[in-house]
This record gives sequence, C-alpha cells and structure tokens, in this order.
Amino acid sequence: MSLKNVTRMYLSEDEIPQYWYNMRADMKKKPDPMLHPGTRQPLTAEELRAVFCSELVKQEMDADTRLIKIPEDLLDFYKSTRPSPLIRARFLEKELGTPAEIYYKFEGNNTSGSHKLNSAAAQVYYAKEEGLKNLTTETGAGQWGTALAMACAFFKINLTVYMVKVSSLQKPYRKAIIETFGANLIPSPSETTDVGRRILAENPDTGGSLGCAVSEALEDAMKTPSCRYVLGSVMDHVVLHQSIIGQECKIALDKYGITPDIIIGCAGGGSNLGGLIAPFIGEKISGKTNTRFIAIEPASCPSLTRGRFAYDFGDTGKTTPLIKMYTLGSGFIPSSEHAGGLRYHGMNPTLSKLRDDGYIEARSAMQTDVFKAALQFAKIEGILPAPESSHAILAAIDEALECKKRNEKKVILFGLSGTGSFDLAAYMSYNDGTMTDHVPTDEELEKGFSTIP
Ligand SMILES: *Cc1c(COP(=O)(O)O)cnc(C)c1O
Repeated sequence: MSLKNVTRMYLSEDEIPQYWYNMRADMKKKPDPMLHPGTRQPLTAEELRAVFCSELVKQEMDADTRLIKIPEDLLDFYKSTRPSPLIRARFLEKELGTPAEIYYKFEGNNTSGSHKLNSAAAQVYYAKEEGLKNLTTETGAGQWGTALAMACAFFKINLTVYMVKVSSLQKPYRKAIIETFGANLIPSPSETTDVGRRILAENPDTGGSLGCAVSEALEDAMKTPSCRYVLGSVMDHVVLHQSIIGQECKIALDKYGITPDIIIGCAGGGSNLGGLIAPFIGEKISGKTNTRFIAIEPASCPSLTRGRFAYDFGDTGKTTPLIKMYTLGSGFIPSSEHAGGLRYHGMNPTLSKLRDDGYIEARSAMQTDVFKAALQFAKIEGILPAPESSHAILAAIDEALECKKRNEKKVILFGLSGTGSFDLAAYMSYNDGTMTDHVPTDEELEKGFSTIP
C-alpha cells in the first residue's frame, strides 16, 4: 500500500482487537512476585482478593497467558471511543526536516481525556460482574478520577475519589467533572481516614501526594462494605488493559506494512508505555526485531533514570504489598513546582524488570523543554497535548532530529496519552515565563531512598 498520502491509519470496527496482550508471557525472566509487607513471603491470590476484584487478581498474577479475551460488554463500551486515532505526524516531520516517519497514537479522544479510561472501564466492569456496590481510588492530576467516574456512571457503581490536595486546588475543573459524573471527591490528606489524620498531624501544611492518597483510598475500601479499591497505573492488570493501545497500533501498522524502529512513551507508573509496547516487546526479546523502546520521565521525579531497583511500598502510608520496582522511595514527594504530571515514586514491576534487563531505555526531561515541545506539536499538528504526553513528544522530536543528522529513515511511534485541555494552568505558567525546572539533588533523593525497606 502506498503511504504517500496516508495520514490516518484506519481500523474498522471488526478490526478492533478482541484480546489484551499480556507481555509477561513473552519474558524469559519474569518480574519478581509481590511480597506480603508483614511476612515478606510472596503474596497469595487470597490476600490480594481482600483489596482487588477476583478477576483482576487473576490477571495480576498471570504471567503466562499471552492473550486474554476482552469481555463482550466491555468491548461494546470500548467501541464508543475506540479504535483511537493512529496518525502520521506529517506536518511535524516536514517542520523538523527529518527523513524519519513519525506516528502517534492519540488516547485523548474521550471526555476523560486520556488512556486511563481503558483500564477504568475494565476494572469497573469486573467489579459490577462481582456484584460490588462501591469503589474507592486516588487521583493525582485528576485524569484517573475522571476516567473512573465516567466508567462508574456507565456501569452504575458508587465511587469515592481521594484527590491529591494541591491538584484539587490547582484543577477545579477536574474536580467539577468528577463530581458531574457522580463521584464523591475528597481532597487528600483528609480527616476521613486514620492514615490521613496521621499524615496531617505530622505535616499540617502538606499538599498531599499520590502515595498518601493511595493509603487513604485503601483504608476506606477496607472499612466500607461491598467495596474494593481500584488503581489507575503501576499494577500489571492495568498495563494488561492498556495493551489495547499497542494491539490497535500493531494491527493497523501491520495492515499498512509499517514496522516501527523506535517506540516511545512517557512513564509515570508505566501503564500507557507498557500498554503501547506490549505486543512489540516479545519480538525484541526473541531477537526477531531490534526495536528500541524509550521511556521518558520528568527530571524532577526520575524513578527509572535515578531510582533504585528494589522492593518498596506502593504508598506513603506503607500499607501496600512490597513491589520489586524502580523507586525513589515511598517517602519521596516531588517538588511542588512540578506541573507536568508523572509524579509517582515507583514504576510498574514488569517495565522495571524489562528496564533492568536492558530491553527498555530510559531518559528524563526538564519540564520547560517538555512544554516547548508541546507548543511546537500543538501549533503544527492541531492537538493540545497533556503535559505527560508531551514528554513523549519531546523524545520523538529528539529522535527525529537524530535521524536527520545521520540521514536515517527510521519509523518512530509514540504514545500521545492524552489531551491538555485540563492543564491550562500549567500552560499559562509556561507561557508567562514563571515555570521553573527542579532537579532533585543526590541528597534530596537520598531522603527518599532512606524510606525503602
Ligand atoms: C496518568 C497519565 C500518564 C501517566 O500514567 P502511566 O501509567 O505512566 O501511563 C500519562 N499520560 C496521561 C495523559 C495520563 O493521564
């Protein structure tokens, strides 16, 4: 097929993937198991079921089944916004004067504005199937809370969202939309939970953190009848649901005869990146392809580039199981000047393992460079990107310019994980020149590392 004039790689409704792709099945060396925080023994399914729905526990612990069927009703829900657009960035290529081809998969085309709806819908669907009435969660910048509120409204389940306090103040419109979809929103840390009260007593002026909001949502779920906790990133079952992104890319690119040389994603907890690369990584591991996988993260929250690969807690309150991952320590709190999202201290254990085994490259970026790339992209491609996604844009531009220098015609695919429509405060601070960069010193990081058990 000639690609001379193709800009959108279309998939019809029957071409939508019927299966999620579990990349752990392709790994020769599997990620280490989660450990019970008390006994330090591998966690059992039974223990995990106290917190998560049974089907999600099964998916979380399954490192062997490659393809997992997407339930019919869920697929129907997906079809209201999927397949998401896969677009060739022709204008950007031209502006950069690069011989490289640049493609991006845009996940911001639903009201919640990001890829998070893919896992939100799946998790709420399974909660409904299991007969649960209530869910709790945390949200940082608000994308996950919005996605989950949408999914809960659709499947008719009650939702309580603990939103990091600074974000709820910085992003009143996120709060408004979460409440519009019917969820109960509580700024965290709060007086609602024991852990919230403890954190407030120690540090009354804290603006909160994602790890702290996780602790509160977990406690609330344990104390509320017919309730489970759901999580928007980091866990392997979340990455599994996000693999619909990579599956759609693979099907479309195969159809158009395109093989990516470089795949790029921004990394917070790792779900959009993991989902994007899922169907591609196996061929790299088996030596069939030599695709480069690049994770890009903020220099102010650099888990993959400066963190330790160690067992650590997923939350500040140190209540979750221990996860073997790249981490800055559960006590790490990113600078309040940081506006670009991706604030989590750890990283999905599968991606962490792939990074440790050398299959994934990682780099970090200053937020002012990220916003510069965001504006360049927005002006020429006509999509205002989420600050998180703009990390991937920056890496894609850098790789495309590298191709220009070497006169190499590579194919670059990146994940445009969401829209920036709710991030205008951050754009305003970039535009008026008040945005600053913060790179933690080794001493600052040491403080976080000292909280690793
Ligand atoms: C939440 C979010 C991210 C980061 O989460 P991952 O789990 O690392 O994907 C990235 N982009 C957008 C738009 C988000 O909302």
